[in-house]
Amino acid sequence: MDGAGTAGADGPDFPARHAPRCSGLGELDALVTQCRACPRLVAWREETAATKRAAFRDWDYWARPVPGFGPADATVAVVGLAPAAHGGNRTGRMFTGDATGDFLFVALHSLGLASQPTSLHAEDGLTLRGVRLTSPVHCAPPANKPTPGERDTCRPWLAAELELLSPGLRAVVVLGGFGWQAVLPVLVEAGWQLPRPRPAFGHGAHVVLPATERRQELHLLGSYHPSQRNTFTGRLTMPMLVDVLREAASVGGLLAA
Ligand code: SF4
Repeated sequence: MDGAGTAGADGPDFPARHAPRCSGLGELDALVTQCRACPRLVAWREETAATKRAAFRDWDYWARPVPGFGPADATVAVVGLAPAAHGGNRTGRMFTGDATGDFLFVALHSLGLASQPTSLHAEDGLTLRGVRLTSPVHCAPPANKPTPGERDTCRPWLAAELELLSPGLRAVVVLGGFGWQAVLPVLVEAGWQLPRPRPAFGHGAHVVLPATERRQELHLLGSYHPSQRNTFTGRLTMPMLVDVLREAASVGGLLAA
C-alpha cells in the first residue's frame, strides 16, 4: 500500500476515522505510516528528505510518519513530542539516529530495557523490553514545533495506541513540557481522568491517575527532554533521566526484584 495512494489519507479526519478501529498495534503502525493529514508536515518531511543534511547525503530518508517502537505488551510508554527531521524522519524509527535518541537509549540500556545502548538505524537489531516509545505528533515539524491544529489532528493515533496498550500499561513517561501539554488531552481521550487543576510539568513530576471503569491506575511521570540543549548544558544529566525511567520501570514491574 503506497502512502500517497491510500484512500483518504490526506484528509484531516484520516486519523480520527481509522485509528479507533485498529485492533492491534501492528495494524495501527502500518496505518499511521500512510497518514498525510497535515499538509504542512507532509511538505516538510518530504522537503527535508530531498535536501538532506550533508552527513546523511547517502541516506534514503523515511520521510513518512514514524510509528511507535516497542513491544505490544509494554507496561511503560515513553512519549516525546515529534520525530526529528534528520533523526526519526530519516531512519523511520522513533528516537533513532540523533543525539536525543543516543542519550535515551544509553539510559534505557543501563536499566536493562534496551538490548543495546545505541540506535543507529531501523535494522540495527535493537529491541526493547517492556517499553514502547512514541509521540503525540508522528511527523517531523519545522523547528520541532507542531501547531496546535497538527497536534490535535494527530491525537487519535496516540489515543488508540494507549488504548491498545492499556490492559498492561502502568506508567507513561513524558519527555519535556511541550510533550506533557500534548499528552494530557490524549490521556483524557483514551479514558483516564486528570486531577484538577491539571498536573504541571516538571522534571520528576509524578502523578497517579486513578483507576476508572475503563482504565487501570496509571502513573504519569515527567522528565526534561533529552535534547542536546538540555544535555549539553547539564540541565538534564544521565542520572536524572535514569532515575525517572527507573521509577517508571519499577511501577511497570520491569526491574528485577
Ligand atoms: S502529524 Fe500525525 S496526523 Fe499529521 S500527517 Fe503526520 S501522522 Fe498524520
